[in-house]
Amino acid sequence: MIMNEATTDSAAQRLSLIQSEIYQAAKLAQRKAESIELIAVSKTRSADEIRPLLAAGQRHFGENRVQEAQDKWPILRAEYPDTVLHLIGQLQSNKAADAVATFDVIHTLDRLSLIEALAKAMVASGRKIPCFIQVNIGEEAQKGGCAIAELPALLEASARAQIPILGLMCLPPEGVEPAPYFALLGELAARHGLQDLSMGMSADFQTAIMLGARYVRIGTALFGARH
Ligand SMILES: *Cc1c(COP(=O)(O)O)cnc(C)c1O
Repeated sequence: MIMNEATTDSAAQRLSLIQSEIYQAAKLAQRKAESIELIAVSKTRSADEIRPLLAAGQRHFGENRVQEAQDKWPILRAEYPDTVLHLIGQLQSNKAADAVATFDVIHTLDRLSLIEALAKAMVASGRKIPCFIQVNIGEEAQKGGCAIAELPALLEASARAQIPILGLMCLPPEGVEPAPYFALLGELAARHGLQDLSMGMSADFQTAIMLGARYVRIGTALFGARH
């Protein structure tokens, strides 16, 4: 696989390369390319680094910190009001209201206390934010995400709290073949009648697309190595 490490190419050129790789992977998987949405992961990137991608037509962006998104995005969103902002990092319950006010999709719902906090924030603001349940698919001690066994309880609680759940999200263990983990996430989603999968990053998005990813989250291959 070719890693699109940032070289002298412009962000717009790298975007177009990734788009064509997504298109190829979709074709191979006999899926429609429009069924796959690229989230440009802009954590740690400045507004000046992000603007060329907005100018090139990219609209879905991912951030992993509420505060950073609040600092960076109001100005960019004023310029590009149809931007869709995804929270892809761990969320503390005391930041739930800020997250609901700032983001359009939350990918990291992973525990009952957070469901409660988000439900409260959504009622208070009148904003219903669609969410993904993050599953700790490799059952790693240090990772975010719920245990596989907890998934039914979280889905039930989300339904009771009227939080719309789009599907499941995962970050597979590093340094091992991700395909079995992506396949397992797909199986769990199907078992629970969930539509969408948020999986695949710079190093493994083609594999994730083969295994049904709806959203791929790509940072390094678009922006270069994080400083
Ligand atoms: C940083 C991050 C990404 C992007 O990773 P790259 O390897 O830079 O593409 C994707 N998903 C999550 C949850 C991240 O934190």
